[in-house]
Amino acid sequence: MKKTKSPESYPCRECQAGIVRSQYITYFTWLNEELITVPNFPAWICNLCGKREYDQRAISWLSTLLNPDTGKSPKSKGKPHSYHRSGDGTLPAVE
Ligand SMILES: [Zn+2]
Repeated sequence: MKKTKSPESYPCRECQAGIVRSQYITYFTWLNEELITVPNFPAWICNLCGKREYDQRAISWLSTLLNPDTGKSPKSKGKPHSYHRSGDGTLPAVE
């Protein structure tokens, strides 16, 4: 039962000496002013220099999750269409 799979570890490109391994960490990110914690987030961490890389699919999944606007039509939320008006709207005086 051997399938081609992404390797579980690879030499670190940063320090050239450490081994980067996949592991699950708690990922922290800020959404506006709220701290979001995501447990069991896949990350690649070097055992020597501690360099972290995150799974790109997981990152894009997370950003989709945190961005309600993604793929949806924007809700009209308090901001009406801003019409460009020249001047203050007073009509020129007609004699
Ligand atoms: Zn390293």
